[in-house]
Amino acid sequence: AYLDRIAAEDGELGAYLHVDADAALAAAEAVDAARVAGRDLGPLAGVPMALKDVVVTEGVPTTSGSRILEGWRPPYDATLAAKLKAAGTVLLGKTNMDEFAMGSSTENSAYRITRNPWDHSRIPGGSSGGSSAAVAGGLAPWSIGTDTGGSIRQPAAVTGLVGHKPTYGSVSRYGLIAFSSSLDQAGPMTRTVLDAALLHEAIAGHDPYDSTSIDSPVPVLAEAARRGAEGELAGLTVGVVRELGGEGHAEGYEPGVLARFQEAVALLESMGAEVREVSCPAFDLALPAYYLIAPSEASSNLARFDGVRYGLRAGDDGSRDLDEVMALTREQGFGPEVKRRIILGAYALSAGYYDAYYGQAQKVRTLITRNFAAAYADVDVLVSPTMPTVAFPLGSRVDDPIAMYAADLCTLPASLAGVPAISVPCGLSEGLPVGFQVMAPALADDRCYRVAAALE
Ligand code: GLN
Repeated sequence: AYLDRIAAEDGELGAYLHVDADAALAAAEAVDAARVAGRDLGPLAGVPMALKDVVVTEGVPTTSGSRILEGWRPPYDATLAAKLKAAGTVLLGKTNMDEFAMGSSTENSAYRITRNPWDHSRIPGGSSGGSSAAVAGGLAPWSIGTDTGGSIRQPAAVTGLVGHKPTYGSVSRYGLIAFSSSLDQAGPMTRTVLDAALLHEAIAGHDPYDSTSIDSPVPVLAEAARRGAEGELAGLTVGVVRELGGEGHAEGYEPGVLARFQEAVALLESMGAEVREVSCPAFDLALPAYYLIAPSEASSNLARFDGVRYGLRAGDDGSRDLDEVMALTREQGFGPEVKRRIILGAYALSAGYYDAYYGQAQKVRTLITRNFAAAYADVDVLVSPTMPTVAFPLGSRVDDPIAMYAADLCTLPASLAGVPAISVPCGLSEGLPVGFQVMAPALADDRCYRVAAALE
């Protein structure tokens, strides 16, 4: 059924970069044969799945949205892809994304535009916009996204989905093509909170192949979602972050987004939660800090794309030396946003500028982490809108990187602090979905699911 939907709709929606219908059907039939034979099936056996194209999949083309990886078929599976395979899920295909996950609208993909299923003239969010469009458009029941500064939560918000960024280190990064290693996390994008919890449980856990993987038990999340769905929040304290759309900080926030957000807060209160306003002054600096740290790490991570090891090699016809082939490969293989970030990051890390830019951004990151710690001494969760606006029209911000970066205002603090955060739908504004963000302390992802399920 999903393959039929893809055949009928994806020419217009552009959610996928790669679909192998035969392989998907064969995998589904193998699961069915195992069921008939009475074999022990995985917990998600037979569930079709869409993976963001940043996830390395054995033998299946993986591009990270970039020309520089065109035609690359990885020789191994990312840990999360292997876990999903072992759980019996069926891979439908790989979804479109901003090149190397840099962007907020999926318009930075080197391959195609992805449309928002709610309004085809608008963005599906980014960078996991193929994953959001696939699920919101009914082209996959569940998908995996990655979130460095908001790329699971923001696309979920603008397409009416649930999207969760796990605690940093709780889902293995092994086999995720690195953008900014101290920030990258993979997580679920689904229609319901319970689905997200089940998918999250399936991909979480310690992995010796990822040196930043946390060695702690897989969290019990579905139980928290079920409990939250009962709508009983007595004893829970909710902090509304003033700096994210509150008084004196509402510039750039659409009134319809703030109205839906405030209604959802009132709903939490009516279910017994105690609501307080909380101030986190360093959150105002999250945007500049992130746009130094993420490009700095990217400039280092992307050095491996040199025309020698993977994918594209340009101009290697015997007339050029190694340096010229490398330069030409990068010139042709990287898009404008990726080049902008490499230049920005290399500059921020260079001798003489390091302290003024990268070092300063790291100090801001510490202040943001301390703001979270202070807030969590008083409240159980922090809440905000997921994004200041609803989905904007395709093309409206492509020539203005600063306006594009502003889409991440609300999601960046949790990324910089490594704490978990979920986006759950909280109604419509002008007929388009609005997302409600719930942030919790590190390793307390269950609280995100509980509160999100109460709002569902
Ligand atoms: N929009 C942000 C960026 O462009 C976040 C991207 C992400 O989370 N991968 O960097």
